[in-house]
Order: sequence, then C-alpha cells, then structure tokens
Amino acid sequence: MATERKHLQLRELGKTGLKLSCVGFGASPLGNVFGRVSEEDAIASVREAFHLGINFFDTSPYYGGTLSEIVLGKALQALRVPRNEFIVSTKCGRYSDGFDFSAERVIRSIDESLGRLKLDYVDILQCHDIEFGSLDQIVNETIPALQKLKEAGKIRFIGITGLPLEVFTYVLDRVPPGSVDVILSYCHYSINDSTLEDLLPYLKSKGVGVISASPLAMGILTESGPPEWHPASSELKSACQAAAAHCKEKGRNISKIALQYSLSNREISSILVGMNSVRQVQENVAAAVELATFGKDKEMLQDVEAILEPVKNQTWPSGIQQS
Ligand code: NAD
Repeated sequence: MATERKHLQLRELGKTGLKLSCVGFGASPLGNVFGRVSEEDAIASVREAFHLGINFFDTSPYYGGTLSEIVLGKALQALRVPRNEFIVSTKCGRYSDGFDFSAERVIRSIDESLGRLKLDYVDILQCHDIEFGSLDQIVNETIPALQKLKEAGKIRFIGITGLPLEVFTYVLDRVPPGSVDVILSYCHYSINDSTLEDLLPYLKSKGVGVISASPLAMGILTESGPPEWHPASSELKSACQAAAAHCKEKGRNISKIALQYSLSNREISSILVGMNSVRQVQENVAAAVELATFGKDKEMLQDVEAILEPVKNQTWPSGIQQS
C-alpha cells in the first residue's frame, strides 16, 4: 500500500503551492448521482483512496442535495489524519433548487458547507457552473465576495467551473490578475473530446491552475454505460458503447484506457474521477501507476480513437444566453 502511495504522482496546481494527486476523488457519486451508494461503501472508498495516495477530494452542495458534502465530511473525519494531509474543494452558487451567485448567498453557502464537511476551511471554493449565471455578476460580485472569504480564512483559493470553455476566458479576461486561482473544466479532456488542450497555453499565461473532471465523460466511457440523465446525443453514446465493446472483446477495459488518456497530460494538475466503491478506487489508482510505469496502451488507444473519430469533440449545450 505504501509503495502505491509513493507512486501516485503529485502535481503543482498553478501558483497555489498545492500539490494535488494526479487522480482526484470526485465525490458526486457519494450524493447518489450515479445510483445509490451506501454510507458504508462511501466511507470505505474515501479511506481506500486516501491510503492509496489520493489527497484531493471534490464535492458540491449541489451533489445529491448536500448529501455528497455530508458523507464526504464523515469520511474525512473518520480518516483521523491532520487536516493538512488532504485537500478539499467544494462549490457555491448551484443548489438543488437553482442557481444563486449573489454575494449574500455564497457567503452563507460556505458556512453551510463547512458545517456539513466538518471543516474549519476548504482549500478551494469554486463558483459552480457559471454559464448558468450572469458572467458579469461572477466578475463584479461573486469573485470579490470570495476574496473576502479568503481574507477571513474560510477558503484558501478561488475557482470557477463550467462546461463551455468560453466562460473561462470571459471571466479571466475581466478579473484582476491573481483573483481566480483555479479553473475546473469537465468533459473536455477525454478520448472523445480533448478541446481543453487548446486553452492550456492561455490558462498558463494567466497563472491559473487546471483541474479536469469526468475522464470517463460522466459514465459514457464505461462498460456499464451512462446514467439515464446523461446529456450526450444518442450518436455519441452509441459510439462510446461501441468503443467499450471493442475494448472488452480485446480483453481491455475502456475506463482504464480513458483515464490513462486524461492523466497523460501533465499540464493538468489533477483528473477528477467519480468513484463509489473500493474496487473503482483500486482500479483507477492502479491505472495511474501502470501509466507511470509502462506508458499508454497505444495500440488500444488508436483503436478507440478511430471508433470515436466521427463524434470527436462533440459536446452538448449548457447554460443560459449571456447578454
Ligand atoms: P466521471 O467521468 O468521473 O465518471 C463517473 C462514473 O464512472 C461513475 O458512475 C463511476 O462510478 C464510474 N467509474 C469510476 N471509475 C470507474 C472504473 N474504474 N470502472 C468503471 N466505472 C467507473 O464523471 P463525474 O463523476 O461526473 O466527474 C468526476 C468528478 O468531477 C465529479 O464527481 C465532480 O467531483 C467533478 N465534476 C465537477 C463538475 C463541475 O464542477 N461542473 C462537473 C463534472 C464533474
């Protein structure tokens, strides 16, 4: 176990000084987002993740209507390790009853999150899915409010998350330099969609750390397929299922090929993968260790890329029209 821990690479996150494990623990499944997970399994998964070298845990009050934060809080407390041994990010502005990026709401939100997480501070607080709010409000009201939370010691760093990549440039071009520390992008650095790559030089020039989530494209790059609510087109889902079937036929697992693809770009500090069982944690850490030791499975990756070529970089709409 100790050997595995040593092998899971740590990567610097922008200018924050934080060193994140290259595989991060996405805690949305703990909010039953991908099907029911018992509290026992959730706590065991977090424990296994930490023991195998994962030091980064991401959640949101939105996941399972606060359930993910509550369960993650219990699981982290059960670790009984010093607070500085793990890094926690949560979010604000998106809730099960809608969006609210006002200063008043995000200031209240962090206190609620800290209570559920049983923590005195979070390492990163991110404005959650900003394409659903007014981007000008994010720039002029939300980020300044988060700055005050930073000064108060409730959060260490500030982030923004969203699906359309344009929202990051819109905000980063308008806020004072250094006021946004991190961006979290999702579903844009997977085998089927790698459009985040083009934005990396810009993000680096802004000194912003990069986290990429959903290497399995929220379940479409798995043998069992996506959840009911998945927003991808049926064409994209079918192509991914064809790729999964091809891998299985060759005795390989699409999830491993997909995670290794996302992990291989070291400019991205951490790849957040949603995990809901000890087995998934073990498989994903093993995939990262194997990648570091042997490199990518090039032959299989080529096959998968060829199958996904007709749907490459296909995405789906998200958010509101910005005025
Ligand atoms: P993902 O691509 O990580 O896929 C998760 C699904 O894959 C779950 O059903 C999980 O059980 C399954 N899975 C994980 N490992 C597996 C394995 N080895 N074999 C088979 N199946 C496996 O998608 P995600 O969970 O949406 O993204 C990861 C995390 O990133 C989230 O939990 C969340 O913390 C974060 N995220 C944030 C945003 C945002 O801020 N807007 C959006 C998406 C994700």
